[in-house]
Amino acid sequence: MVNVGILGATGMVGQRFIELLADHPEFEITALSASKRSAGKRYEDAATWYLDSKIPENVKDILVVDTDPSEVKGVEIVFSALPADIAAVVEPKFAEKHIVASNASAMRMEPDVPLVIPEVNPEHLDLVEMQQKNRGWDGFVVTNPNCSTIALVMTLKPLYDQFDIKRVYVSTMQAVSGAGYDGVPSMAIIDNLVPFIGEEEDKVETEPPYILGDLEEGVVTPAQFKVSASCHRVAVLDGHTEAVFIEMGDNFEIDYVKKVLRNFKGLPQKLELYSAPKNPVIVREEENRPQPRMDRNEENGMSVVVGRVRKDTVFDDNIKYVLVGHNTIRGAAGASILNAELINEIL
Ligand code: NAP
Repeated sequence: MVNVGILGATGMVGQRFIELLADHPEFEITALSASKRSAGKRYEDAATWYLDSKIPENVKDILVVDTDPSEVKGVEIVFSALPADIAAVVEPKFAEKHIVASNASAMRMEPDVPLVIPEVNPEHLDLVEMQQKNRGWDGFVVTNPNCSTIALVMTLKPLYDQFDIKRVYVSTMQAVSGAGYDGVPSMAIIDNLVPFIGEEEDKVETEPPYILGDLEEGVVTPAQFKVSASCHRVAVLDGHTEAVFIEMGDNFEIDYVKKVLRNFKGLPQKLELYSAPKNPVIVREEENRPQPRMDRNEENGMSVVVGRVRKDTVFDDNIKYVLVGHNTIRGAAGASILNAELINEIL
């Protein structure tokens, strides 16, 4: 077993890490950190547990420590669920000696830090060697993308491999858990929709071409399509929905597009990694699916569910569909855990 720690263990994503790692066959939680407000308390007393599952017995009594490498002891891997500004300072310190699998956006776009979805661009992990050399670290940082980006790119990858994608438009309807426990006041979101999420559109526009880019001689050259995003917060607890419009340079049959999406598999499926879904993308035929409440938990929340795949009626060679992905599982904690499982297997 590999001993692991969770940084930001009391938050929304931190709790998902705990839930997903509780019975993990390779990783054992031995350290939990949070802010000074929580440090020194038993985990059960420090966290306002919001998940439907119970707090796992094996973490209840762990004493939460300050988020500092001198306090988080005896672990090989740390999973980071820290706010970006804290992560920017703390993650490099941990990476001196640890593998850091991070959700935070702080280091995602640094040229020597892999931004990885294991099914999509596992080869970007080659950047690790350069990162360690550049920075003189024994450990390293690997990041997973923004929650909306992950679900989008898992559907773009199989299409990108088959068709000439010219442009992508996406309109997101994002769950409140994506903003963290204290993120969106109930008075702002009940009976309402908020048509702005700070810095989100920039991430959803920048990350997909980068993830689908080629890594050559230590440099990622982004894919040559552009993404335009409009991001919105909706009164859903978990599960981001995205309406996706893709302009393709090729003629295509809808049935063939569905087949390409359904058949998509990547390295995690080949290696049968513990958290890997059998079907990364599930395509539904009903006209009223996917819906977050009904579809977010497919394959333990690790699959993206697509529906309403159809031709666009305005432009030629355009396709549109709707997807749902679980933002705190596939879009956050589950994504980091899958990254760590892949690293454990191949590095
Ligand atoms: P959250 O619910 O607000 O939790 C934040 C965590 O960070 C808590 O454990 C908190 O501890 C800790 N923390 C806050 N200030 C700290 C400090 N100064 N030093 C050390 N720890 C501190 O946030 P979240 O939604 O879990 O998000 C965590 C990260 O994941 C963010 O970078 C976010 O952008 C990213 N992310 C979130 C999602 C999502 O769907 N929620 C998806 C993808 C990525 P206390 O309890 O002690 O305050």
